[in-house]
Amino acid sequence: MTPTKNISLKPFHSFGCDVNATYFTTIKSSHEIELAIDWCKKNDKPFLVLGSGTNMLFTKQVEALVLKMEIKGIQKTNETASEVYLSVGAGENWHHFVSYCVHKGWGGVENLSLIPGTVGAAPIQNIGAYGVEVKETIETITAYDTIANKWVSLNKLDSDFGYRNSLFKREKNRFIITKVDFCLQKQPKLRTDYGAIREVLHQKKIQNPSLEDVSNAIVFIRTQKLPDPKMLGNAGSFFKNPTVSINQFELLKNKYENIMAFPISDTEYKLAAGWLIEHSGWKGVKKGNIGCYEKQALVIVNYGNGTGQEILDFSAEIIQSVFQKFEVVLEREVNVI
Ligand SMILES: Cc1cc2nc3c(=O)[nH]c(=O)nc-3n(C[C@H](O)[C@H](O)[C@H](O)COP(=O)(O)OP(=O)(O)OC[C@H]3O[C@@H](n4cnc5c(N)ncnc54)[C@H](O)[C@@H]3O)c2cc1C
Repeated sequence: MTPTKNISLKPFHSFGCDVNATYFTTIKSSHEIELAIDWCKKNDKPFLVLGSGTNMLFTKQVEALVLKMEIKGIQKTNETASEVYLSVGAGENWHHFVSYCVHKGWGGVENLSLIPGTVGAAPIQNIGAYGVEVKETIETITAYDTIANKWVSLNKLDSDFGYRNSLFKREKNRFIITKVDFCLQKQPKLRTDYGAIREVLHQKKIQNPSLEDVSNAIVFIRTQKLPDPKMLGNAGSFFKNPTVSINQFELLKNKYENIMAFPISDTEYKLAAGWLIEHSGWKGVKKGNIGCYEKQALVIVNYGNGTGQEILDFSAEIIQSVFQKFEVVLEREVNVI
């Protein structure tokens, strides 16, 4: 294996910041992972796994071997009267996989339509949208464990999924995912309880929606409210929705009666980070090359030649200002390198 030296990562991540990686290679098979890890060990270099780079913020030169995941393939491995099992390569485009399932009439991932990125990255932060998380459809994950130096097959329980979190995110740079196995439903129960989905279906006069109708509605909603990374650099939601105790929520509710929040247990609430940011006065604010997106305060955008450090500094200002106003600490969802 001979990696390319000193390559710009600008085309390989959605913020479009111009940073270089000291070494770069594409990975098209499991065997190439073993070769790459071997190379890292022999040359005493770290590695960094990259999917489509839609959840990355590069703030400096990447002094590592970047492994750009390009393992493809969608294979049916089993089928029952009600379920279908699929094994999908980590480098497959996520939305392409969703569209494939929707087209076949297999339900479970349609609410995750149009989330950018690769299939292999989906378990990392347990991607979620419109009331669904990817963990619900995942059966097993095949990965190379770079600490134990062996291939592992991890099930849902092993993967320890949480809200925008998993074993893979917590144990950063330990597992390199090559394949994700999913179980999808042949007679899917549609999840249209989100107000925005219901509204679009109503507008389109669709009373008994199909999988395709739900997927199309979500694509429509997302296209309206999120910037296309090809036009405007961004990584989707920059921050996680913070969790607070019921006591803290009630104090906030007394002060800000319209605060957006929802209960997640008997003792905790999740606050809408976008609402907190917007009500701290950031929506639409632009500072030099960087800004808080005018249609969705949770998204930080790069208007052109902004650096990763400028984006990080801008996000730190938002964190500080939200804390000053609400005494709530925002945590970044994006992976800062
Ligand atoms: C416009 C927009 C909207 C978005 N909307 C959503 C949303 O609704 N919900 C949501 O959850 N996310 C959303 N995201 C975030 C992003 O799409 C997801 O996190 C996606 O899963 C990232 O995929 P990726 O291939 O680009 O991963 P990358 O950004 O390349 O990598 C993300 C992390 O995963 C690791 N990684 C990637 N591939 C592998 C692998 N094969 N093995 C091991 N580690 C790996 C990387 O090292 C990194 O730590 C959005 C992003 C954008 C730009």
